[in-house]
Amino acid sequence: MATMRAVQVARPGGPLELVERDIPEPGAGSVRVKVQACGVCHSDSVTKDGLFPNISYPRVPGHEIIGMIDALGPGVRGWSAGQRAGVGWHGGNCGYCDACRRGDAFACETETLVTGISSDGGYADYMIAPVTALARVPADLDAVEAAPLMCAGITTFNALRNSGARPGEVVAVLGIGGLGHLGVQFAAKLGFKTVAIARGADRASLARQLGAQHYIDSRAQDPAAALRELGGAKVILGTATSGSAMTAVLGGLAPRGTLIVIGVTEPLTIDAVPLVLGSKSVKGWYSGTSIDSQETLAFSALSGVRPMTETYPLERAADAYDRMMSGEARFRVVLTTGN
Ligand SMILES: [Zn+2]
Ligand SMILES: [Zn+2]
Repeated sequence: MATMRAVQVARPGGPLELVERDIPEPGAGSVRVKVQACGVCHSDSVTKDGLFPNISYPRVPGHEIIGMIDALGPGVRGWSAGQRAGVGWHGGNCGYCDACRRGDAFACETETLVTGISSDGGYADYMIAPVTALARVPADLDAVEAAPLMCAGITTFNALRNSGARPGEVVAVLGIGGLGHLGVQFAAKLGFKTVAIARGADRASLARQLGAQHYIDSRAQDPAAALRELGGAKVILGTATSGSAMTAVLGGLAPRGTLIVIGVTEPLTIDAVPLVLGSKSVKGWYSGTSIDSQETLAFSALSGVRPMTETYPLERAADAYDRMMSGEARFRVVLTTGN
């Protein structure tokens, strides 16, 4: 039996350990992907630390996968060996439940499939994915550039393109980190009047380089007041993880404006009166399904949006994970397999 390298977590809270495993065979409706690159995402801590119920261990994390299909399970149509494919957080859906039939595959009622959590993910040479989880990868995106687009990219792009904001309207991105540095680029390329909000004057030049027309240093000024001076934001994309940073910008929404929360934060305390008087909303956004990933990759190839990355070889996954968790990485950490 041929074997491969995989980096697994043996128990909740256990270390990331490099092991040798049999190369898995794809079942009905699934393909095997030979992994080229896999991003390291903060949500990998769900697997590392056992933050969801019923995760079965040992488990291989990783849901920002770019690779090459190298084997097809029975009944697979529309995909062939040798094709590039991406696999993200959305690990597939059933296609027959009411939510799937309504077009809400992200809310599939019969399967809660999350790559690297309910099944083994991309910290390995090979992984298995259902065809409902696969995205096509444009030829002109390299694997390292494309990998972070499978989670950080789709989350920001899909939230913005479904936000209701129209070209020319003020859209603010709160936080310039792993999510925010992509959010600013997407907002600018989608034609919004793009405002970046972060802490400290040193982020101003980076914000402009990413395409922001305006930068608000939330240490030096009240970000809500600064947004109101720009006419108020139609949309604020909240990528920060601090609840107080989210609530501090709420007063900067224009009438009918929306704060879209995608950074997973502490509980938010919201003053309901301005929300009611201004018909404003606070909402969340699920990253998206495989077709959303595919369209994120296609838009990025078309528009030049690219993540800033630091790469580590697969064997150093534990170091890569620590680097990501330190919050010091600029901005997405990516594992490469050499495949
Ligand atoms: Zn992720
Ligand atoms: Zn379903």
